[in-house]
Amino acid sequence: MIYNENKLARNKKFVHGVPCNLKSWQVRHAIEKVLNRLKKKFPKDYKRIRSRVEYFSALSKLEMRDGTEGHWKARDVDEKTFWQNSAFYFDPDNNPGEVLLKDAVHKNAIANVAHELGHVCTREKDRQRRRNLFNSEWISEMCADYYAYKWGFGRQIERGRKTRDFRHHGPGPGDVVAGYRVTKNFFLRVLSKKKGAG
Ligand SMILES: [Zn+2]
Repeated sequence: MIYNENKLARNKKFVHGVPCNLKSWQVRHAIEKVLNRLKKKFPKDYKRIRSRVEYFSALSKLEMRDGTEGHWKARDVDEKTFWQNSAFYFDPDNNPGEVLLKDAVHKNAIANVAHELGHVCTREKDRQRRRNLFNSEWISEMCADYYAYKWGFGRQIERGRKTRDFRHHGPGPGDVVAGYRVTKNFFLRVLSKKKGAG
């Protein structure tokens, strides 16, 4: 039954009701798989994603030139929207946008989708809570990974971490950077000087 529903969604080029122009069956399936889990187990995050994501679409060749495999592009607010609803303009946590993905068969599709949807769910407060050492790019990446791990996609992300660009994506749980250890919730803890305390 689920399979038929998915098949229907593919033919219509909607995933969970969101328009999608991705040609790759595998990538659309990855989106479905991630959203199915969120709908069932993390309904609040699912609702938030559904309210923000207006479109799933393909990255251009140019956008992928530096190795980018996904991008959450929150919509810039145009003047018309600004005048219609100024509250929306001032709320960076909720402005809608587009999830751009690499539209090709690739083994990290699920990790990639989960990470990008993690960017969609990130709120300013998530960033603020992690603002203690790294640059803003890393903070943003760690917030996105925090959500993806919370949803249970840590294993898939971990698998792809070796091939990801560390300079862009930043560290993962257990990694040690400049005297800090990254916790499983992507916070930074100062490493204890004492050894073998337990
Ligand atoms: Zn990212």
